[in-house]
Amino acid sequence: MNKTHLGHTARKRFGQNFLVDMNVIENIVAAINPKDDEVLLEIGPGLGALTEVVASRIKKLNVIEIDRDLAQRLQSHPFIRDQLTIYQQDALKFDFNALSSEHQKPLRVFGNLPYNISTPLMFHLFTFTDKILDMFFMLQKEVVERLSAGPGSKNYGRLSIMAQYYCEVIPVLEVPPNAFKPAPKVDSAVVKLIPHTTPKYHVKDISLLARITAMAFAQRRKTLRNSLSELCELNDLEQVGIDNTLRAENLSVQQYCDLANWLSAK
Ligand code: SAM
Repeated sequence: MNKTHLGHTARKRFGQNFLVDMNVIENIVAAINPKDDEVLLEIGPGLGALTEVVASRIKKLNVIEIDRDLAQRLQSHPFIRDQLTIYQQDALKFDFNALSSEHQKPLRVFGNLPYNISTPLMFHLFTFTDKILDMFFMLQKEVVERLSAGPGSKNYGRLSIMAQYYCEVIPVLEVPPNAFKPAPKVDSAVVKLIPHTTPKYHVKDISLLARITAMAFAQRRKTLRNSLSELCELNDLEQVGIDNTLRAENLSVQQYCDLANWLSAK
């Protein structure tokens, strides 16, 4: 497989699969619909496939790129360098709060994400959802299915619950491997995430919700009575109206929130 694109050899450790299909790129940018009075932030601009098209529509754009070579290339990009504020950083450590405060506006975040860090990056971003207007991400199709899955589905899990706790999740478009160079081994999809402006669910201790869901889905074939035995006494589930012979995948987001609130109030 040819891993060199525009003179750059793709680095696997940074999850580099560059978008080359102009239709897909145009469709993503049309979905984002960037405007000049907004604060746009791209994660992982790479060789600029999305960056150049977004920059053709607005004056200023912030980008976070971990790869020093790629950040330097963007710094001397012949057409768009003056439009870019480049953070040569790890997006997993980026302070989205600080950028939003600097502009006194919520952020619009987008990117064709490195698939090897997409789940931890989602969890990092969820902690900043009060500073984010919306997010558009290219991810592994399987991750988009997990983000949007509901109870009873095999894809429903901790990621679905935490994503839907914070955001409305809207799958936008599916993308085949040949839209990238080098082509990834998996199908991809674009998802739009819109943080709830007024909370949809109310949880007093969000870390407890995260712990309950992690514990329940770590043993998803077990009944909740067994998988949550370290956290709950036998009648806790009953007290919130949950049948304790159910499995992790049978509970709604609301029921997980009810359980977290019951346990934190005990
Ligand atoms: N946006 C480009 C495109 O669509 O062609 C590149 C997408 S590529 C899938 C992912 C990009 O994220 C690469 O440029 C990679 O170097 C960058 N990246 C990987 N890990 C990162 C991290 N932790 N923080 C910021 N950027 C990262």
